[in-house]
Amino acid sequence: MGDLVIQNLTKRFNNDSETEIVAVDDVSIEIEDGEFLVLVGPSGCGKSTTLRCTAGLESVTEGTITLSGRDITHQRSRDRDIAMVFQNYALYPHMSSRKNMGFGLKMGTDMESDEIEERIEQTASMMGIEELLEKKPGELSGGQQQRVALGRAIVRDPELFLMDEPLSNLDAKLRTTMRTELQNLQSDLGVTTIYVTHDQTEAMTMGDRIAVLDGGKLQQIGTPLECYHLPANRFVAGFIGSPSMNFFEVKQDRDAGALVHDEFEYHLKPATADTIANSTDDLTLGIRPEDIRIAGTNDENALTVTVDVVEPLGDESFVYFTVGDQTCTASVDGEEYIKEDSQIDVVFPQDRIHVFDGHTGEAIK
Ligand code: ATP
Repeated sequence: MGDLVIQNLTKRFNNDSETEIVAVDDVSIEIEDGEFLVLVGPSGCGKSTTLRCTAGLESVTEGTITLSGRDITHQRSRDRDIAMVFQNYALYPHMSSRKNMGFGLKMGTDMESDEIEERIEQTASMMGIEELLEKKPGELSGGQQQRVALGRAIVRDPELFLMDEPLSNLDAKLRTTMRTELQNLQSDLGVTTIYVTHDQTEAMTMGDRIAVLDGGKLQQIGTPLECYHLPANRFVAGFIGSPSMNFFEVKQDRDAGALVHDEFEYHLKPATADTIANSTDDLTLGIRPEDIRIAGTNDENALTVTVDVVEPLGDESFVYFTVGDQTCTASVDGEEYIKEDSQIDVVFPQDRIHVFDGHTGEAIK
């Protein structure tokens, strides 16, 4: 029970007009009972629309949504057994936390008020927010309001939680604390959850799996580490990981077994050359900042670059340099002494490089 299947979901706005927008384009996602799935992608990629279609706040243009085997595609929102948590908390300002938490149960169910009170008390005690129950939203901090908003969702004991950037109004430190708190709550309750964020760090740290969207299309679905180590395409490779992966447009020279860039030639081991031999000539070479190494004397494919800027962060430093007209980032050990304007030799270890089709962006290696 509690598994959600979104099948070929498409949502178009301004249907039939010249200004039609395809907000969600043929997206299929299966979420297991009790799973925490994060929907992540840049602004406008269709995350909120996918969530709103699932909640019944937006009509579905094509496709189906089933929850625990029930087709809920066109069901009224209040009949879906789903609770939603929003970025702006959406608490009623004139009601106490207690009334806010009980409101949905009082209006949407025929539950007796004794039982409602009992559930509120239980939830408040589980979340440690008993002392907030008689206060109104105006008397609460952002973090406390978000706890009450979560409490209001939990008290309903739904089959599915939908959360739309619930932590984005909180300061950075509180956001980190609340991430852990929310994850623990979700795993204790075991309620299937879809969590929307544009923040890849939040996605990486919170999700059992993450679904990466761009332009309304599902780009990849997998565990955070699968998406990090084996990105399906250039978009996912660039979106997941911080700082972003460096990309170089290269041509494949099959005779030389090399990737040729305007500024360098990267010689491939036979096994790597074989892997990409059947693909197009135009390729993109990708390397994550944390995978770039300062070259030793015997390193093949070392590249001499001039350091533009060094950003020391303590245990690591970001080193910015230019290759041709392109700025690149390397993340190196903070102990490494690198001076701005100096020349250094860097190397892209072969077991760490990514290769993408230069036209489609699909991952090849
Ligand atoms: P954000 O992170 O900025 O909230 P998002 O990934 O959640 O973005 P959506 O809000 O789902 O993106 O929007 C997807 C696309 O659909 C955008 O181009 C948006 O402008 C468009 N859109 C969303 N709602 C409507 C609407 N009611 N009418 C017309 N277009 C809409």
